[in-house]
Amino acid sequence: MMQIEELKVRIKSEPSTFISYLEKLIKTNKFDDGEVLEIAILMIKYGSDKLSDEQWAIFLVNGILCDKYIDQCDSCSEQMPWSNMYSAIFINQDYLCANCRYMENKIKV
Ligand SMILES: [Zn+2]
Repeated sequence: MMQIEELKVRIKSEPSTFISYLEKLIKTNKFDDGEVLEIAILMIKYGSDKLSDEQWAIFLVNGILCDKYIDQCDSCSEQMPWSNMYSAIFINQDYLCANCRYMENKIKV
């Protein structure tokens, strides 16, 4: 599956913002799969380089890609920054990046 490899590359190139997102997901109990949670904790502790291909696949398919990842903002189609991911999916549930949400709210007011 192509998306797994792409996502893996993205996570490895943006480790600190991804880890912040991951910590938020763990703190708010968004992982109901115990195996995925275990891998998430391993990644925070030892870094993503320590994961096997199998762990990566489980983590991405059963965890992140399940319902915790948006590729693009629904409005501007820019890549969704990790720092905006939690809010777009879980708080506002609008699938918008922070810039577009700001603009939309401005128009509404
Ligand atoms: Zn946007």
